[in-house]
Amino acid sequence: MSAPPPVRHLYVHVPFCPSICPYCDFHVLTRRGAQVEAYLEQLEREAARLGSAYDIDLETVYLGGGTPSFLRGEELERLSQSIRTHLGWGSQENTLEVNPGTVSAARAAHWRSLGFDRASVGVQSLHDPTLKFLGRQHDAEQAREAVRLLLETGMRVSGDLITAVAGQPLEADIAGLVALGVGHVSAYTLTIEPGTPFARRGVRVAENDERAGFTRTAELLSAAGFTRYEISNYARPGEESRHNSAYWANKFYLGLGPGAAGHYPQPSSEPGMLAVRRTNPHLHDWLAHDLSTGFAGEAELIDAEEHVTDALFMGLRTRAGVDLAGLSRSSGLDVAQRYAAPLSRNLAAGLLTQDGDVLRATEAGWWGLNRVLSDFINHTEPSPDTSGPDEHGPVKLAELDETASTQVVI
Ligand code: SF4
Repeated sequence: MSAPPPVRHLYVHVPFCPSICPYCDFHVLTRRGAQVEAYLEQLEREAARLGSAYDIDLETVYLGGGTPSFLRGEELERLSQSIRTHLGWGSQENTLEVNPGTVSAARAAHWRSLGFDRASVGVQSLHDPTLKFLGRQHDAEQAREAVRLLLETGMRVSGDLITAVAGQPLEADIAGLVALGVGHVSAYTLTIEPGTPFARRGVRVAENDERAGFTRTAELLSAAGFTRYEISNYARPGEESRHNSAYWANKFYLGLGPGAAGHYPQPSSEPGMLAVRRTNPHLHDWLAHDLSTGFAGEAELIDAEEHVTDALFMGLRTRAGVDLAGLSRSSGLDVAQRYAAPLSRNLAAGLLTQDGDVLRATEAGWWGLNRVLSDFINHTEPSPDTSGPDEHGPVKLAELDETASTQVVI
């Protein structure tokens, strides 16, 4: 068996935030006492262990959270140095997630000097009442100023928007963000996750607002010259996120820090398995773990079937779609034959289209993507002597959506 290719992408989770937003269900906490010091020490140990365990040649680094830009200058410098020492630095793109309330000209220049060439800024809205409702600590003017200062350093800048908020002036939000000169926009509809303060307060998202957030955002950004290259992501030419594109192409990546997920080449001791997904525990258990005994967290081996559904789950989010012939080669399964039933059902329903070997979701398919994917995940290849209907039932799509849902919005 040939050696797996080097791992080229690194996600680092920084769990600290200035305050906790009422819609947030990520692994976050406000900083307390010596926690940041302990975090930085353990992060260096984990980076060293990853560096000795894998062949690594990084193209992209992504610091997400949490609020990485909330770290003090010397803390971020130390964290960056740990990455450089043990894992290297991205040859193509190095992104820092930034909260507008943490930006000053001096801090932005420092981030640039540390090697970050892209900032993903949690603007969320440019309408003060909407920001207040979302529990954000910054106002619209701070968000505008943050984007301006970051662009002045020469960094590529992406602005995050939350849509489908009642009373939000969506057109003005999008026009305002575009006018600031960002080259990339990530737009997510507000989701009320169980256990969050919004869920406890009974906050609801109206379906009309959700649908408008989904379709109107695409219309407005497309009219402004952005391409919707992923279900929630829009870019001017050349401004696509190379790091997130690696997730959507189901590439391997390292996950560093508490709560971080990673996708790794398979251990040679596990024939038949194609990859390993490992998810780190939250801060307390992650700090307590003795890395000399092995990696922290749960490891899940990925077989050929799961490799296919993972690739579909990620790839169908993108305009580029999924190359079924390539997926057959990488999985060792005849994907078109094995998934013939859900393929034909979703093609007939107009939720998917196929152009040669490339399978894509239509606009309607993007809107109903979870349903499409459920069909593939729950599909059981019929045995020759049975002709009963395929089973359908609840699936935990959120578990598969870890990278996209925890590593983009701040
Ligand atoms: S939404 Fe972002 S800034 Fe707010 S608590 Fe969550 S990670 Fe922190």
